[in-house]
Amino acid sequence: MRAENKMRCISIILLLAMVLSGCASKESDSSEPKGKSYFTYFDTVTYVFSYAGDSTERFDERSAEVSALLGNYHRLFDIYHEYSEVNNLCTVNKNAGGEPVKADPILIEFLLYARDLCEMTDGMMDITLGAVLEIWHEHREAASDDPANATVPDKAELEEAAKHTGFDLLEIDKENSTVRLTDPQASIDVGALGKGYATEMAALMLEADEAYGYVLNVGGNIRTIGTKPDGTNWSTGIRNPDGEATDYALKIEIADMACVTSGVYERFFTVDGVRYHHIIDPNTLFPAMYYDSVTVLAKSSALADSLSTALFCLPYDESRALAEKLGVDVIWIFPDGTMEYTDAVASMIV
Ligand code: ADP
Ligand code: MG
Repeated sequence: MRAENKMRCISIILLLAMVLSGCASKESDSSEPKGKSYFTYFDTVTYVFSYAGDSTERFDERSAEVSALLGNYHRLFDIYHEYSEVNNLCTVNKNAGGEPVKADPILIEFLLYARDLCEMTDGMMDITLGAVLEIWHEHREAASDDPANATVPDKAELEEAAKHTGFDLLEIDKENSTVRLTDPQASIDVGALGKGYATEMAALMLEADEAYGYVLNVGGNIRTIGTKPDGTNWSTGIRNPDGEATDYALKIEIADMACVTSGVYERFFTVDGVRYHHIIDPNTLFPAMYYDSVTVLAKSSALADSLSTALFCLPYDESRALAEKLGVDVIWIFPDGTMEYTDAVASMIV
């Protein structure tokens, strides 16, 4: 696990412990998870909590199914490693400019979803930005190895890389189940959507199996299934971007819904006192500077994750207009600490 991700894991564990103990002190019985398990996928910690009446055996079975499903997506979405038994996004990236890569239908469905989301967000969440994101990633890694080595990517280099982005470079052949990047310098990066999509698939599997009273948390992508057993909503905290992981700007209650935040505090490096975080505006090719965090509340965790990134990259009026058009609820926290939210959020605040 990379150093930056280790730090994220620790803060997620702290955050989760706090959220749950916060719930527990407020409402005793139904707030204590009866089943708890955790795994590491997507370079981060994943939790499965069951608050309803599943027996230990049933919970173990269900969390093993969730683990298997997430493990499968983890392997398919991995852009750093290949696995002997399967072609994944690393294989697709390696074969850029070459022959079409035979891909699992699950991966094809995912790429088609990502293409739809790119279109719906007018390119603000675009998994084909790999060539640009790679440059930011390298600079972040160099800074994490030694902060004295932190440098800002060169604008001309970013602009050159941007020539190798865009969905027109990605051929998705559903009928033959193949994928091909037509440009040898193009690559895919699904950091903005992979976790949320996989979480949603796990939630849909649990729902199809009539699971109730479950909470999934995959590296901060929270997806609740049903309400708490007593019929009340789950409470969760929206982090104060300027504070510690356990310092909340807001507490809300949700049910049957996903809650996903993109924030400047998650992964960043600093040069000359300026923070360069990991959410890149496809227009400027630099970190988007409108907000410190954007939280999206939507039924689907895939949608919430995609939009947390896309809405982060748009100025407030456009961001709000897109959220309202797509029917999701959003909390925007600005760099000066003020916040805005869509109308329905008012009734969720605790
Ligand atoms: P988190 O890392 O918490 O999941 P996001 O969901 O906002 O945060 O995803 C950020 C990640 O998505 C980045 O690390 C990068 O890999 C990728 N990314 C950054 N900007 C964009 C963008 N505009 N479109 C698509 N992917 C992006
Ligand atoms: Mg996202």
